[in-house]
Amino acid sequence: MKFYQMSAAARRAALVESGALTAADAAVLAAAPGLTPAVADSLIENQLGQFTLPLGLARDLRVNGRVYQVPMVTEEPSVIAAASNGARLAALSGGVHVETRPHRVTGEVVFDGVADRTAAAALITARMADLQAVAAAAHPSIVRRGGGLETVTVSTPGRFLKLSLQVDPQAAMGANIVNTIAEAVAAAVGQWLGQPALVAILTNASPQVTTATVTLTAATLATRDVDGETIAARIGALSDLAECDVDRAVTHNKGIMNGIDAAVLASGNDTRAVEAGAQAYAAHTGIYRPLAVWRQTTQGDLTGTLRLPLQVGVVGGAISALPLAQVTKRLGGYTDVATLQAVLAALGLVQNLAALRALAGPGIQAGHMALQARSLAIAAGARDTEIAAVAARLQAVPKDLAHAQAIVAELRKDDAQ
Ligand code: NDP
Repeated sequence: MKFYQMSAAARRAALVESGALTAADAAVLAAAPGLTPAVADSLIENQLGQFTLPLGLARDLRVNGRVYQVPMVTEEPSVIAAASNGARLAALSGGVHVETRPHRVTGEVVFDGVADRTAAAALITARMADLQAVAAAAHPSIVRRGGGLETVTVSTPGRFLKLSLQVDPQAAMGANIVNTIAEAVAAAVGQWLGQPALVAILTNASPQVTTATVTLTAATLATRDVDGETIAARIGALSDLAECDVDRAVTHNKGIMNGIDAAVLASGNDTRAVEAGAQAYAAHTGIYRPLAVWRQTTQGDLTGTLRLPLQVGVVGGAISALPLAQVTKRLGGYTDVATLQAVLAALGLVQNLAALRALAGPGIQAGHMALQARSLAIAAGARDTEIAAVAARLQAVPKDLAHAQAIVAELRKDDAQ
């Protein structure tokens, strides 16, 4: 039986048998524990309850020669099916190759109304050693771990004076670490300049861009009705369109983030930080562009390249507080930040591939609506034992709420007889 045809319990058992999941982690997933009331109340303010989403798995994503099982949390049907399908296609041609840059986060400390910015910049530049000492005293534990403030550059955007602090947060995402260092640096420089800083905080923009590439043999792209070379040519054309049409680029990028956001959320990382960084990068040339582009090679094959910054960590933040984030970290094999970044970028690329191949072939609705039927069944009031039957009957009629409700009523009438 195929993985997607199994029950959730059988899927967990299969993963334990293959060594991808420990028996203890499988038990945690089966119990689906919520947060304890104390943890839930400590994580956010005005806590009322807990909001549950399904956790699934994109299968067999080959990245840099290794195969990953990628945990994803999403409410959208078809995202995980598409990711697994994209991963399968990529694996047929050797998988995805990813290059990461060293994980660094930038803090910015900005002053307004500095009368002589040239003199101020010279003063700051002359006192770099003092700034290093201030940063180390503000966050000694990150220095002990081998990270901390690396460089300070001074610039004058608009009317402002700005210090950009490059920080090595080691295995953490780094927002709090950078903010602590930035505020200490702001206080020290504020004293030197005789005025407080306007702002001291990290930026979610990042020059540390992760690059994922895949080259697919055209024949592997064929759908039931369209040959592989035609699909490759159409995917190339869709990519060209996204490069000159912002309407298409936005949705193209949304499809990429369908996968990345779901895997970021499952990992316990900050989805908003990753989204903000990705969208800023999409527009970094001044024009909003597709994060992934696809080109046909001279042999008619297809090469895709995705570039985006990924501000994530494997410790700290909510990762350590959420019990399921510990399980997904082990299941995903996220041993370090570079591995997590590589998996996320590869996932985004194959997610995009699956969406573009559907657009280039049967269209997006064929697959979507088949899976959407189950959501529609639930919306129509189908109980656990009725969902599959209602979804099956919906395949033969227009998929709308009225038909779904009629089928639920029909089923119950049949059962009552
Ligand atoms: P933390 O504040 O949790 O700091 C990292 C923690 O991990 C520290 O407690 C550190 O311990 C511990 N740690 C253990 N091992 C390591 C290691 N090898 N390397 C580094 N740290 C280690 O998290 P971050 O600074 O990463 O901040 C992330 C959080 O900040 C997220 O929850 C995010 O949502 C939030 N945030 C995001 C913002 C944004 O994106 N704009 C703004 C503000 C907050 P020790 O102290 O002993 O070193």
